Amino acid sequence: MPSHIEKFIFNPFQENTYVIHDGSNCVIIDPGCYDRDEEETLLSYIEKNHLKPMAVLLTHAHIDHVLGVDFITKQYEVPYYLHEKDLQTLMAVSQYAHMYGFPGYREPKEPDILLKGNEELVFGDISFSVYYTPGHCTGHVVYHNISENYVINGDVLFAGSFGRIDLPGGDLETLKESIYNTMFMLPEDTVVFCGHGPETTIGKEQKANYILQF
Ligand SMILES: [Zn+2]
Repeated sequence: MPSHIEKFIFNPFQENTYVIHDGSNCVIIDPGCYDRDEEETLLSYIEKNHLKPMAVLLTHAHIDHVLGVDFITKQYEVPYYLHEKDLQTLMAVSQYAHMYGFPGYREPKEPDILLKGNEELVFGDISFSVYYTPGHCTGHVVYHNISENYVINGDVLFAGSFGRIDLPGGDLETLKESIYNTMFMLPEDTVVFCGHGPETTIGKEQKANYILQF
């Protein structure tokens, strides 16, 4: 069965958490659920659809994308994936969580799988090619489903704009390289699922993204 992509908007940063499933297996990408209500929303979706969680995949480890990692990995005993260069980003989260208004943040176990980029991941009928796309932070990756023509792109591209580059590890030139040399190389009808805000396509962003002005 082709991927079903379910989007949830969680935590005060309005972060997009995705559950992608093939009717039986699912992966959870960037679980940003923080309070009990958000956790329940995610659990009840998984349970109502009788899905078997296979993994948690992270595009990167900024706080709004990892708030629910500990909860989901414990609840379902699934491995989670992060690029090796974002371990430091992850380690920093517990130091600033309080300041950002998340006193209840629970630091997850170490990632089970450290990605380097260019992996092929398969979960039931769902498969992803992993691309390394730094610039928003040091260890950012995107997950490209080639056969179904979509990419889970975290905070690289947004509809009309791009991820901020003023946090530790952020760098405009590096982000431009990731956008021009990786994202804009994808077919123009590729659907882009962003870490914040609505979906877009590579073609639309090639024509009108704010990055073109830099
Ligand atoms: Zn981010």
